[in-house]
Amino acid sequence: MSCASTFLDTVRPYLAQKQLTTVGLQVIQLNLGLRCNLSCQHCHLGASPRRSESMSWAVMERVLRLVDKSGCREVDLTGGAPEYHPLLRTLIENLHHRQVAVQLRSNLAILMEEDPQMATLPAFLRAHQVTIIASLPCYLPENVDAQRGSGVYQQTIAALHKLNQLGYGREDHLPLHLVYNPGKAFLPPNQQRLEEEYRQRLWQMHAIHFHRLYTMTNMPIGRFQAELRRSGEEERYGQLLRNSFNPATLEPLMCRKQISIRWDGALFDCDFNLALGWPANVPAQELQPDYDPQQLAHRSIVTGNHCFACTAGCGSSCGGALAA
Ligand code: SF4
Ligand code: SF4
Repeated sequence: MSCASTFLDTVRPYLAQKQLTTVGLQVIQLNLGLRCNLSCQHCHLGASPRRSESMSWAVMERVLRLVDKSGCREVDLTGGAPEYHPLLRTLIENLHHRQVAVQLRSNLAILMEEDPQMATLPAFLRAHQVTIIASLPCYLPENVDAQRGSGVYQQTIAALHKLNQLGYGREDHLPLHLVYNPGKAFLPPNQQRLEEEYRQRLWQMHAIHFHRLYTMTNMPIGRFQAELRRSGEEERYGQLLRNSFNPATLEPLMCRKQISIRWDGALFDCDFNLALGWPANVPAQELQPDYDPQQLAHRSIVTGNHCFACTAGCGSSCGGALAA
């Protein structure tokens, strides 16, 4: 990335406090670990079947205490593949009991693994009204398999059929949202138009239902950064992100209302800073049993030039585009 002006230099004129700060604690995102059935080309975390990092029950108990003390009503579960975590169901039961809305980020292919635990997981998620946010970088098989591995598209479609049969994507209390990210170093197209295209093509090709499509910009860190370097595109992509800066994306940035907790309890502003190992600006960098939620809710956000990926064009977040 060019070292012309930093992200903070660029955004400062648009910020009342001259630095990016949080507006509260509305979402707690948990990265349960890095074991994954896939090793996708664009993965910012370097997750794979060989990784073994995993959140302990002791950390989960602290999270539940934070949920109780903060009154936060939304927990977002990610990984790796969170489905591999042996305590996933126990954690979801505890959150459901507290009437917390739970979102699970799934690559879907994992749900088709030959494992009795995976076979029964979709019905468990349905029973606990867990929202499923599922990666599907394209409606065409060749593009998905190129990015995620051979045969992944077919498994993904099979998992979508299974979820649709349970009511996911068809009933409003069982949300199923899909996530698109570009196959290469370019910005996502317009989210609304792409959603219409996905809806039409997935229905024609496979009779699949879903609720929303979220577009996400590839983050120039982790495996995607290594790929950019190999192909000599790092500078061009960094410049594209920088030149596409859109100030309208600043107010809804996801880091302004969430905290991201790593498997070992360490605290970050988002999963990207987590991947980089850049800790959040909080009094203690590990989640403490007696943490005052106000200390997490009000903090200045740690930024870097990778943040241009969240503010380019229509913006990007775990919930898709940020601006029209
Ligand atoms: S992008 Fe998601 S599905 Fe792919 S390797 Fe990373 S964590 Fe796994
Ligand atoms: S990468 Fe995005 S979400 Fe994370 S701190 Fe930067 S702007 Fe916020």
